[in-house]
Amino acid sequence: MKTAKLAKSYRIDNGKHFRLKDYDPADTGHWHSVEQAKEHLEKDIARMADLQAKLYAQDCWSLLLIFQAMDAAGKDGTIKHVMSGVNPEGCQVYSFKVPSATELQHDFLWRTTEHLPERGHIGIFNRSYYEEVLIVRVHPKVLEAENLPPELVTRNIWEERFEDIRSFERHMARNGTVIRKFFLNLSKKEQKLRFLARLDEPEKNWKFSDADIHEREYWDDYQAAFEDMIRHTATRHAPWYIIPADNKWFTHLAVSAAIVETLEELDLSYPKVDAAKRKEIQAARRMLEK
Ligand code: ATP
Ligand code: MG
Repeated sequence: MKTAKLAKSYRIDNGKHFRLKDYDPADTGHWHSVEQAKEHLEKDIARMADLQAKLYAQDCWSLLLIFQAMDAAGKDGTIKHVMSGVNPEGCQVYSFKVPSATELQHDFLWRTTEHLPERGHIGIFNRSYYEEVLIVRVHPKVLEAENLPPELVTRNIWEERFEDIRSFERHMARNGTVIRKFFLNLSKKEQKLRFLARLDEPEKNWKFSDADIHEREYWDDYQAAFEDMIRHTATRHAPWYIIPADNKWFTHLAVSAAIVETLEELDLSYPKVDAAKRKEIQAARRMLEK
């Protein structure tokens, strides 16, 4: 099976009928082992490197990849793996943390803009403005801290944020930024195992955070928030991929396939050499050969 086809089955272009429970976090498609997937993974990474070189040379499109997930779903590992083959010069990763005091003085999209990828580049958001309809929705106190004028905080606030996000993404798409969004779909059971490993294995201790264990208590609220987010923000120009995350090797395979598929759809090529440029090349050759 072609990996490009594989990614399509996890892609949501229209969230209207989306239900998270239809997606199995342990799904591995037609694949059953990391060994079986290895060759395809390596091929996809090589393909991605080739496509990125063209994206960069063409200097026209940019690609924005957004990763959202529960803790321990493997965002960092996936980003590291997927990007292992690409030229760091044309790629930047930005991790969105709790907003600073300055950032809280502005609208919720304000801090995003300066981290968007420039033309020819791939930008990766490790978390994003989507936290504004996730953690902010699950914890009313976080919304309170945003200090919005009270009359603007109504029961429609999440609908309004979805609408604003859709408009923002449409604007970006219309200006040449291709957006692909990944929800790494981890099961509660697998999260527990990964947290336990962080406690048990000394080299993973640094990853352990008390706050993460606490957030786990809000599991169902988060699942509901993720589902609603995907329902309202999956569009043709900025689709969500619901990536099974209980098996890391499959997560890597599916995400790589989605990126390759996206870049291939752009029909990228190196800029054409025109007559004037060809003359320049010939002149340069003569100079060097003298
Ligand atoms: P990660 O958990 O993504 O691997 P980390 O552990 O290195 O990252 P954290 O200190 O956990 O870093 O930073 C991410 C935290 O910031 C998360 O709890 C996330 O929900 C929170 N956060 C990100 N964006 C926002 C936002 N707009 N509003 C409130 N909280 C946010
Ligand atoms: Mg964390």
